[in-house]
Amino acid sequence: MRFDLLHPADQLVMLMNRIYYRGMTTTSGGNLSIKDADGSIWITPSGVDKGKLTRDDIIRVKPDGSFEGRHKPSSEYPFHLQVFEQRPDLGAVLHAHSPGLVACSIVRCLPEVLLTTHTYQVCGRVSYAPYALPGSVLLGQKIAAEFRKGSSVVMLENHGVVIGAEDIFQAFMVFETLETAARLQINAHKLGKLKILSVEEAQKAASLNIAEYPEMDLGPSTSEEKALRRDLVKFVHRSYEQGLFTSTQGTYSARLSDGGFLITPYGKDRMYLEADDLVLVRGGRSEKGKVASRATWLHEEIYRQHPDIHSVLMAQPPNLMAFAVTDTAFDPRTIPESYVVLRDIRKIPFGQNLLEREAVARQLSPRTPALICGNDSVIVTGKSLLGAFDRLEVAEFSAKSIIEALGLGPIVHIAPKDIEDIEVNFRL
Ligand code: 13P
Ligand code: ZN
Repeated sequence: MRFDLLHPADQLVMLMNRIYYRGMTTTSGGNLSIKDADGSIWITPSGVDKGKLTRDDIIRVKPDGSFEGRHKPSSEYPFHLQVFEQRPDLGAVLHAHSPGLVACSIVRCLPEVLLTTHTYQVCGRVSYAPYALPGSVLLGQKIAAEFRKGSSVVMLENHGVVIGAEDIFQAFMVFETLETAARLQINAHKLGKLKILSVEEAQKAASLNIAEYPEMDLGPSTSEEKALRRDLVKFVHRSYEQGLFTSTQGTYSARLSDGGFLITPYGKDRMYLEADDLVLVRGGRSEKGKVASRATWLHEEIYRQHPDIHSVLMAQPPNLMAFAVTDTAFDPRTIPESYVVLRDIRKIPFGQNLLEREAVARQLSPRTPALICGNDSVIVTGKSLLGAFDRLEVAEFSAKSIIEALGLGPIVHIAPKDIEDIEVNFRL
């Protein structure tokens, strides 16, 4: 979808809806703005239900300060304006009170962007603005001072976050990634000591994480390929809806019978991905004109080594990932479903999935169908699209139950003799 071709009012409605229905703002909280080429600022209205905005609710503030629209502009218009004045390079500003980031804001810490390379790459440096009254010029001055220093992501003390970007969709992607990182940080804190990457480690991993494939012409598509495009894209959407993917992360692939496979593209929003966006990879070449996921090399190696694996998923869901950023082991012997689906999940050290693809793929087997990659992601495999999806979903649910149980009492795992019983009965 060409998001940039939508009218600014439609862009604001679309993203405020997405923020609200993803649980990242309340009915009364948050505001968004877009700077137009003629100097006008399009902004969400003040105090109007954020779950039900329509394009007619959006306000246009003209360059002379007068405004058009049927409501008052957001009460935070002063800080939106001051940010645009300080940073002519920015085209949009997003403000919200999402629960994960508010948790950071009320204990006065910054969300940790160095728990994964991905968060560091998408969000960059985060800075902090001291408390001031909402809607005040003083709040605007404190926020704008941080933007003037070059920061584009500013946490507001006892309030929320402000993010500036080239366009509102970029701002949303940074916001969703940062909120997910905050939730990961909160979960990981309950589990154990956080392993935080150094800037050098994150930069090195980012430089290794590239997918440069020689291109090939697509040629005529088979019905098998068309059906797989249709089915795979539905699972990508479902992964997003279930909170397993975000707009910026989550890689999904599935094998074709001719030795090729389809995989998600690099850097495209998972929610609106279309069948045509998926990239065909075959014989070490990828479909012309598209950029395949950076993890394509690893998917390819897994398919090469394991003829029984037909689908591979890599993701960073915020409960399961808590085990990837701490030393705590993930033991799925919690309920029979978890053990049957997940068996013995292993952890591999940070960087191995980038540097030693053959060795990583070799660790997968029917006994170990998933791997947790330190400070990076989780790799899940399956005999089908649904099998891999179910495995990731079960893993994330199990991780969530384990983390929530920590507040209730000590976890009692299924006894070894009962595990044996499960293995016999389920023919594992
Ligand atoms: P508005 O509804 O006026 O935009 O205010 C919401 C908010 O988040 C204030 O900080
Ligand atoms: Zn606010």
